[in-house]
Amino acid sequence: MNPMNSNKQHKKIGLSGNGDCRVAFCPDCGTLEISLGTSTIRTNSESLHILSSVLNHAKVRLAQMQNASLTNDGAQQIRVGRVH
Ligand SMILES: [Zn+2]
Repeated sequence: MNPMNSNKQHKKIGLSGNGDCRVAFCPDCGTLEISLGTSTIRTNSESLHILSSVLNHAKVRLAQMQNASLTNDGAQQIRVGRVH
């Protein structure tokens, strides 16, 4: 029983972190771990790029919505695109 040969130790490297949100990378298997509070998402670096752009877009959209509701007293319907 020698775990050193059969089970390679996966060393995760923290890439970024802020508050409850952390991103770690395992170079041994290419797994990317995104932790948000108590949730952890395991994914890969490709998904990180997608997630990053989706989050950025969501951020912009949220800002637009918040600006719109501020300037129009919330009276204007905000177009969020087709639902389903
Ligand atoms: Zn790993």
